[in-house]
Amino acid sequence: MTQGNGTRDGRPLADVSALGPGGHAVVVGGGLAGVTTALALADAGLRVTLLEGRPRLGGLAFSFQRGDLTVDNGQHVYLRCCTAYRWFLDRIGGAALAPVQDRLDVPVVDLGRAEGNRLGRLRRDALPVPLHLGRSLATYPHLSLAERASVGRAALALKGLDLADPALDTQDFGSWLTAHGQSARAVEALWDLVGVATLNAVAGDASLGLAAMVFKTGLLSDPGAADIGWARVPLGELHDRLAREALDSAGVRTEVRTRVTSVSANERGGWSVQVPGETLEADAVVLAVPQREAHDLLPDGALDAPENLLEIGTAPILNVHVVYDRKVLAAPFLTALGTPVQWVFDRTEASGLKEGQYLALSQSTAQNEIDEPVAVLRERYLPELERLLPRARGAEVKDFFVTRERTATFAPAPGVGRLRPGARTKAPGLYLAGAWTATGWPATMESAVRSGVGAAAAALGALGRSRGLLPDFFEEAA
Ligand SMILES: Cc1cc2nc3c(=O)[nH]c(=O)nc-3n(C[C@H](O)[C@H](O)[C@H](O)COP(=O)(O)OP(=O)(O)OC[C@H]3O[C@@H](n4cnc5c(N)ncnc54)[C@H](O)[C@@H]3O)c2cc1C
Repeated sequence: MTQGNGTRDGRPLADVSALGPGGHAVVVGGGLAGVTTALALADAGLRVTLLEGRPRLGGLAFSFQRGDLTVDNGQHVYLRCCTAYRWFLDRIGGAALAPVQDRLDVPVVDLGRAEGNRLGRLRRDALPVPLHLGRSLATYPHLSLAERASVGRAALALKGLDLADPALDTQDFGSWLTAHGQSARAVEALWDLVGVATLNAVAGDASLGLAAMVFKTGLLSDPGAADIGWARVPLGELHDRLAREALDSAGVRTEVRTRVTSVSANERGGWSVQVPGETLEADAVVLAVPQREAHDLLPDGALDAPENLLEIGTAPILNVHVVYDRKVLAAPFLTALGTPVQWVFDRTEASGLKEGQYLALSQSTAQNEIDEPVAVLRERYLPELERLLPRARGAEVKDFFVTRERTATFAPAPGVGRLRPGARTKAPGLYLAGAWTATGWPATMESAVRSGVGAAAAALGALGRSRGLLPDFFEEAA
């Protein structure tokens, strides 16, 4: 970076002196929360500078090259009920590249039976809630008749919970399930099957409030709410390339490889944002960085209890990547019971692989495996894949590697709700965004986008700007 209003490559930064009142916003962090905030502020007419420390946008949802293969750091899915992320995809022109399946359909293979693998399906009908899942549940082979009936009763009890009740966040989901008659098998074969993937915690470690939110919104709100969407292209195509194009056309000045080192009040009632070799002056600053970085950047007094941010735990996700010399999985994805394998996705087309098949195994709640050597994981997972996918038995493994995200999500533990701050801080003009802020959602792309819209709404309101251009879920998000 150069001194003054210029960047490392010599291009001028936003000319702050030429701006009208309340004109320049700096967004720190180019993950989905930061990109969303920057787009929403620019759409409302502000001059916006987005600063990202890494060489790319997309934060925790990104791609990289491994030879000819384009690899996602971790398989990402979303649900039809993720209205904010779907707005984001539309806004960057990427909706067609990450479509939602027509109707929820999840193959679930049980490897734990003596008589051999058994396939079940979690599917929905075109019936109203909760009947849309009734037939699937009634025929779900991985639970006994009594367990299926009891799951139905628990689902209805869950539907009756008031998500606004803060007491829900003090209890754990596992105890609630036990109290509502759920057997260990029902937890494993149904509640954790969905909950581990969406919350990144087993039921016993998850806040009842967050779990109830996920199940009520995904399975008990609208018949199509849980239909699954995923990118048919590398994540970087959406969250980096298309996001960058959208930011450019919205007039946002985007600087990557630009790490913010401090944020402090300036003498004009605004904020000075320090990056190596330069200070940017801003009327509003949004910190869209992970909680620990936000804690370190927040000036004294900005939050009543800044130490809360350091108390928010984190949870890892491991992805195991296997390239076979032939097709071994016919479905686009499946999930499994009775094996360490959780979800398996076919990433062949998205990765650019021309021959054979590339599978990505998404392993949530990976606390026990995240630091295991690749050789150990290979020894564990290749035989499991052979058990799961008979066609893998004769296939040659062309490549095997893993990606480890040690702080993939915040830990959705009971009590986390009181630690998550909202978008506004006590410092006027300084806002927070990020999947970890108080959106009501677990650490997801949906939560990140919601938080970004919420921060933009708060900043626009304080600057006296119209919020009319924000997407219609902003009232909720703000
Ligand atoms: C392996 C994996 C699988 C996942 N699966 C799913 C899934 O299936 N579905 C789903 O919805 N979600 C999933 N998630 C979660 C989802 O990716 C995140 O919740 C979301 O991307 C978080 O976005 P964010 O913008 O809040 O934060 P981040 O993505 O963490 O972005 C913060 C950005 O701030 C930057 N930054 C930090 N400090 C500074 C600084 N000082 N100056 C400048 N920049 C800075 C960082 O480099 C980063 O780019 C998954 C996450 C992982 C890791």
